[in-house]
Amino acid sequence: AKTEGKGTYRFFEAAMGAQIRERRSIEHDLRSAIANNELSLAYQPQAQVDTGEVNGFEVLLRWTHPTRGKVPPSIFIPIAEDSGLILKIGEWVMREACHEAATWMRPLTIAVNVSALQLTSDGFVEFVQSTLSQTKLPPERLEIEITETALIRDPNRALQTLQKLKALGVNIAMDDFGTGYSSLSNLRAFPFDKIKIDRSFIQAVHTNPQAAAIVRAVLGLGRGLGLPVIAEGVETSEELRFLGLEGCTEAQGYLFGRPAPIAEFVPLINDNVVV
Ligand code: C2E
Ligand code: CA
Ligand code: CA
Ligand code: CA
Repeated sequence: AKTEGKGTYRFFEAAMGAQIRERRSIEHDLRSAIANNELSLAYQPQAQVDTGEVNGFEVLLRWTHPTRGKVPPSIFIPIAEDSGLILKIGEWVMREACHEAATWMRPLTIAVNVSALQLTSDGFVEFVQSTLSQTKLPPERLEIEITETALIRDPNRALQTLQKLKALGVNIAMDDFGTGYSSLSNLRAFPFDKIKIDRSFIQAVHTNPQAAAIVRAVLGLGRGLGLPVIAEGVETSEELRFLGLEGCTEAQGYLFGRPAPIAEFVPLINDNVVV
């Protein structure tokens, strides 16, 4: 049994080593991903619950590695955050997204994910301001999605930044609401314009009464605070029907469209097409 234990330990150690090397390798390759044109953006429609009309898009980062193929954001975003690479990558995402949205015939919104490090980095507000003026995108068409985790790092600094962004006219959405470090006081302490209910609640709405109760409660909270609520991860028409009955006005998910290159949505952007 003793030797077995030792062997297990060695195996574990080897696996740990492999994991660390894997992370380092991803970080190394991510460093040159922008210059090598390996990053791209996927756009996912955000629609009106009652009519299906598209109001805007969320931008989601994609990385196609020359040998690994598509690396999921759940793998490379945390590495980009830990290594600080998210600062440069995040600027690339913001510039590309604003540039794209400025070309649209209809004034649809563009929602960009911003991580904690970006939000509290020096010059972030100035960067957003200059991006808006360079691309000529009206500030009210840009929405920044922030998770509550991003507020915890440095709440004072996060508040200052969000207030300055608001003063520019940019909208701010609280992402993944109901998960992580959720605290209702954050809705009062920070200048949010929108709440995004996390996908995990929407997906359990018909199987788990607690999830349904939480969705109802968040919708009630939104009404009480005068904040629009968007449901993410809507995959079925049953989920959409539930949301409509409960008074949810906006939704996003595979039911309306999977994240895809913007070219796939061109007809929808130029004409008022219902999805
Ligand atoms: P998120 O901001 O919560 O983005 C929503 C995620 O849910 C996306 O995963 C999207 O593809 C997925 N999704 C949307 N609708 C459905 C649905 O109906 N069913 C299911 N099962 N999934 C759905 P994705 O693209 O893999 O991104 C994962 C996370 O990576 C994002 O979660 C966000 O936290 C982060 N991320 C992606 N792009 C960026 C970026 O440009 N900057 C930063 N800082 N983070 C990003
Ligand atoms: Ca998001
Ligand atoms: Ca989310
Ligand atoms: Ca998420």
